[in-house]
Amino acid sequence: MSANLSTPVVTRFAPSPTGRLHVGNIRTALHNWLLAKRHGGRFLLRIDDTDAERSREEHVEAIRADLAWLGLHPEGEERQSARFAIYEAAFDRLVAAGRLYRCYETAQELDLKRKVLLGRGLPPIYDRAALHLSEADHAARAAAGEKPHWRFLLDHDTPIAWHDGIRGPQHFDPRQMSDPVVRRADGSWLYMLPSAIDDAAMGISDVLRGEDHVSNTATQIQMFGALGAEPPRFAHAALLTGTEGKLSKRLGSLGVADLREAGIEPEALIAMLARLGTSDPIDPALDADALAAAFDLSRFGRAPARFDDAELHRINAAVVHRLPFARVAHLLPEGMTEVAWETIRPNLAHIGEAADWWRVVTGPVRAPEADPETRAFLDQAATIAAGIDWASDPWSALTATLKDATGRKGKALFLPLRQALTGMDHGPDMKALLPLIGKAEAIGRLSPAP
Ligand code: GLU
Repeated sequence: MSANLSTPVVTRFAPSPTGRLHVGNIRTALHNWLLAKRHGGRFLLRIDDTDAERSREEHVEAIRADLAWLGLHPEGEERQSARFAIYEAAFDRLVAAGRLYRCYETAQELDLKRKVLLGRGLPPIYDRAALHLSEADHAARAAAGEKPHWRFLLDHDTPIAWHDGIRGPQHFDPRQMSDPVVRRADGSWLYMLPSAIDDAAMGISDVLRGEDHVSNTATQIQMFGALGAEPPRFAHAALLTGTEGKLSKRLGSLGVADLREAGIEPEALIAMLARLGTSDPIDPALDADALAAAFDLSRFGRAPARFDDAELHRINAAVVHRLPFARVAHLLPEGMTEVAWETIRPNLAHIGEAADWWRVVTGPVRAPEADPETRAFLDQAATIAAGIDWASDPWSALTATLKDATGRKGKALFLPLRQALTGMDHGPDMKALLPLIGKAEAIGRLSPAP
């Protein structure tokens, strides 16, 4: 999709606040943010809350909080529930233009019609029976207390085509499509028409969403036409699947709260979701701005994008290993310094684990029971540790002197020291860790228990 530089790029993320965001929605939000940033445009949050029954204020707040956590700050927020007068006016115009018509079929009747068509091997398209009702028929139904629902009249003579930013040229024959219901008998709106009205009114230049919306796009292109508006550019990303190749239930409900709890950082989620389904490698070194600068719809493929938890955790670790102290200071234990963070972070899968390593620095640690030979070696280490210069590189001084004195090298030299000093068999670089532990504490740990 080549952005037309004469019109500003405006994208929107349009969730219905009927539940929490899941990784699929988050990916859509991110794509729209990246596209707007890429072109110096605007990214809007539009709360699609026409469904008063199912929309919840707590979900609106959670959506805002999730976007804030991700750093995807919208340049504006709109709410469909505040725009009913606008929809009503557009509705009146479309009724007057003959593009909306009244229908009365019940769900059961429609289901029966569909079954009959399918049984005859035909596509289950609405037969437009209601289009042939006379004004007298409508009046009779109204008198009987029946209220109509409304369908949008597709223009059968205008083939639908667009150049999809990801899928390439798309063609739909409106004769093969049902006139969609846009408004229920109780006056409430279905998603499709208010969305097109808003996209036009808000100057949305690009609609980037999941490929489950492709057929909606075909319908909405005709709605834009009926509203006298230029349709935005469209791009539809292939959907996410779990590692087993299907859209798993878990993935469909995996949200920011779960990811946070698992120690996933927003930078990791963004690095992964920005590149999943593209031919570009996932790069934990790239922040959102760098990802935006390189964002390119032509890199997206048509194959489903596989979301792999294990991969997310690997990326998360790589991200944590790069996070600067200023970004994490408020999440670290009291007293933990910048040097300590930089020493410890290569060992972390999650920031939360920093506290465990900080306890190793501050002590007390529980070292394994030393056999007599190791005990003698550690006594020697304690004596040497008391005599070396602690100002520059005590670990190198300690191990070099011990090596000469004992003839030990490699694991036999290093492991007992690490175990006595940290209570662990592995961990951060001892050269960096030992100065953090400090002279007195280190000598204490090398010495026999009192
Ligand atoms: N509220 C719609 C949804 O959540 C918006 C779809 C769209 O137009 O992006 O599916």
